[in-house]
Parts: sequence; structure tokens; C-alpha cells
Amino acid sequence: MGGTFDPIHHGHLVAASEVASLFDLDEVIFVPTGQPWQKSHKTVSPAEDRYLMTVIATASNPQFSVSRTDIDRGGKTYTVDTLRDLRTEHPDAELFFITGADALSQILSWRNAREMFGLAHFIGVNRPGHELQDPGFPEGGVSLVEVPALAISSTDCRQRVAKGQPVWYLVPDGVVRYINKRKLYRQDAG
Ligand code: ATP
Ligand code: MG
Repeated sequence: MGGTFDPIHHGHLVAASEVASLFDLDEVIFVPTGQPWQKSHKTVSPAEDRYLMTVIATASNPQFSVSRTDIDRGGKTYTVDTLRDLRTEHPDAELFFITGADALSQILSWRNAREMFGLAHFIGVNRPGHELQDPGFPEGGVSLVEVPALAISSTDCRQRVAKGQPVWYLVPDGVVRYINKRKLYRQDAG
């Protein structure tokens, strides 16, 4: 599951857990982006902060792990590169890419979309405010699944912190503490 994870929240975690159960996955690898190409006009928190929050949020689940591949590659992150790296690291694995309905609707415009479909099976999950539909993938390239819908977004979490509103229970407790410790998303932090 790729994402900016700025910060990781319970919407991500429930989606990952549900898909792991439904598809009997051995492992879910969370892959925080380096510089996300669709977000190059926005300020994104430092990669190490996003990486550490993802580790904190997933550490207690033996099925969950975090990959540094997009962060360490540097430059803009394209999912095709993520999938090529994961394929090299796990040559015999069957790869799935978990994505929310909003991202799924954009995927055909992502770089080297055709090659991506050959590298992984895509799983689209519902997300409040976005319609879940097959955006015209090649036959059998995508599965659409319903997960318990959580109307949580990282954008909303950042805005809440900036306004002094709580993010308890939207993100894991350790992530709330990390945000406070590093003073992330504060208006005065720019
Ligand atoms: P932002 O508001 O900064 O874009 P986000 O909440 O959309 O943050 P991302 O890191 O952009 O989180 O998303 C990573 C992946 O998780 C994407 O595929 C996205 O569709 C999916 N996702 C995010 N939030 C949810 C949610 N509440 N339910 C289901 N999928 C989600
Ligand atoms: Mg997003």
C-alpha cells in the first residue's frame, strides 16, 4: 500500500487490515512516498517523519511492515518504480497494490500504467466521498472491495492540528504523540 502517509491514519490501517483478511495476504507492506509527483505543488512533511509515523502505526501488527524503497530511491515517486523494486525484493511473491477509490480513479493516468498492471493486481477500496468503480483497467486487473468506511483523510488531520483540534482516535495514539513531539502541522511551523 503506497501513500504519502502525512500522517498515516485509521482509514489506511482499516483498509490494509480488511484487504489482508479478504485476500489472505501474508504481509502488507506500507510504502511511504519520496516526493509524491501529484503533490509537488504542496508542502509535504519530511520523508523521515512520514516514515517514522508509519512505523509507529504498524509496529504492533506482525503482518504489517514498512518499506523505505520510495524514500531511498529519491526524486519523485512513481508507483511503477515501487512495484519494480518490490518485485526484485520478492521475486516469487504475488503482489497486490491496495488503493482508495480516489487514487484508483486516477491510476490510468499514472506513469507506465500498462506495465503496472503486469506487476501487481490492484485492489480498490471504498472511501467516503469517492465513487468506487473500475476506471477501465485491463480485464482482471483490479478487484473492488468494500471495507468499513472511515471518513478520515490526512489533509483533515493536518488541518485539525493546525487549528488546535484533536486528532485522537483518527490516528494511532503513538502518531498523535509523534506529531506533538515534532510539532508537525502547526500553523506557526509554516
Ligand atoms: P491526503 O489528504 O494528504 O491526500 P490521504 O488521507 O488521501 O491524504 P494518502 O497518503 O494520500 O492519504 O493515501 C494513501 C492511500 O490510502 C491512497 O490509495 C488513498 O486512496 C487511501 N486512503 C486514504 N484514506 C483512506 C480512507 N479513509 N479509506 C480508504 N482508503 C484511504
Ligand atoms: Mg490522498
